[in-house]
Amino acid sequence: MTDTTIKNDHYYMQLAIQEALKAETIGEVPIGAVLVYDGEVIASSFNLRETLETTASHAEMIVIDQGNQHFNSWRLEDCTLYVTLEPCPMCAGTIVQSRIKRVVFGALDPKAGCAGSLMNLLQDDRFNHQVDVTSGVEEEVCASLLQNFFKKLREQKKQRKQLRKPRESTEE
Ligand SMILES: [Zn+2]
Repeated sequence: MTDTTIKNDHYYMQLAIQEALKAETIGEVPIGAVLVYDGEVIASSFNLRETLETTASHAEMIVIDQGNQHFNSWRLEDCTLYVTLEPCPMCAGTIVQSRIKRVVFGALDPKAGCAGSLMNLLQDDRFNHQVDVTSGVEEEVCASLLQNFFKKLREQKKQRKQLRKPRESTEE
């Protein structure tokens, strides 16, 4: 890997992190993605599962959709997908289907990651397409975004519980 590639990966991952931060501001799990073709960002989005109440609204799925619209094609050959968290089975499957050339991700997902953690759908040579994978770019930032989000969520839940207790007797 050349210095330029490393620099570029960090640059684009920073953009994906910016997307993840947008998710966080609306209470979504902070995961962001950008799709890059020929050095140009052609799609960017973030996890919208809670907002849209749709199972498939992961950041990767949304940018792939935008990429399809951009090229008016289901094939996204020569595109690189940057995502802050290791893709899940659904997204990894869609990445293979879309023929995306390369995936760069930040944090590992030991509970759902299918780009090496639980399995590696992106590089299984039994499929008709394999993806180049680079992991761990801006890993600490990407991981701490998620850790802080879930920590805050747990604290809020705890607070709500504590608030609820004395009120129970006077409710209604
Ligand atoms: Zn996913």
